[in-house]
Amino acid sequence: MDIKNTAAIVTGGASGLGAATASLLAQRGAKVALFDVNAELGNQLADEIGGSFHSVDVTDPEMVKSAVQDAEGLHGKARILVNCAGIGPPAKVLNRDGSPLPLEDFAKVIQINLIGTFNVLSHFAARLYEAEPVGEERGVIVNTASVAAFEGQIGQAAYSASKSGVAGMALPIAREFARYAIRVNTIAPGLFLTPMLETLPQEAQDSLGKQAPFPSRLGKPEEYAQMVEAIISNPMLNAETIRLDGAIRMAPK
Ligand code: NAD
Repeated sequence: MDIKNTAAIVTGGASGLGAATASLLAQRGAKVALFDVNAELGNQLADEIGGSFHSVDVTDPEMVKSAVQDAEGLHGKARILVNCAGIGPPAKVLNRDGSPLPLEDFAKVIQINLIGTFNVLSHFAARLYEAEPVGEERGVIVNTASVAAFEGQIGQAAYSASKSGVAGMALPIAREFARYAIRVNTIAPGLFLTPMLETLPQEAQDSLGKQAPFPSRLGKPEEYAQMVEAIISNPMLNAETIRLDGAIRMAPK
């Protein structure tokens, strides 16, 4: 799919991997709509890249439905969707005193990372499946999992469950959307230097980065964005989960 002049939606686009993706897509000539709960950063970036910001909680079907319509009114029908909105607070199953993790803490991570991803992609596809194709394709979806989908650490039960759900649903959705010429792929990043990790002291950042065999450093958000560009550009890539991780394999803790 050509990126130039194509309308794109990036969730979690106000920060980190989503912001880098939105910037690269805009540089390549896409018309970008940022969906995020962080209005301050979202508006700022939308101004910088000539895109639009939409105040959206990805877990809310009505908000998502109307934001997809609003974005279409501004930029035309979105054919590119990149789902980056996510949270990752660590929490063990049992607290220090042996009491179980409150169920709502587990559910919140699943709600945003997994159900939110599904919510946005279903509303995106509902407005796209009857559109005229451009060449052989109608559109492309890129979802964000994590290496924690495959080797979750202690404290990542909810996060790993949400991210393996994201990776797992790509194949059935890609199969379903084949008749609409819409592709679905997943990126599973290793450790990337985004605001989440920027708050750690430099020493901690360096030590995390060294866990990757090569390159022995944290990933740059721009490198995630490059992978999104490659996925969008290559029509044969479908129903794939791509690890982007410098060969890191996470230890138990
Ligand atoms: P980030 O915190 O910088 O960005 C996440 C964005 O999502 C924020 O702008 C936040 O406001 C937004 N968001 C959170 N909840 C939302 C909601 N309910 N509705 C709409 N927007 C919401 O984090 P990041 O590091 O850029 O992470 C982006 C994605 O990549 C996440 O899904 C994360 O799990 C995944 N990931 C990140 C890393 C990493 O090392 N940074 C590694 C693996 C996977």
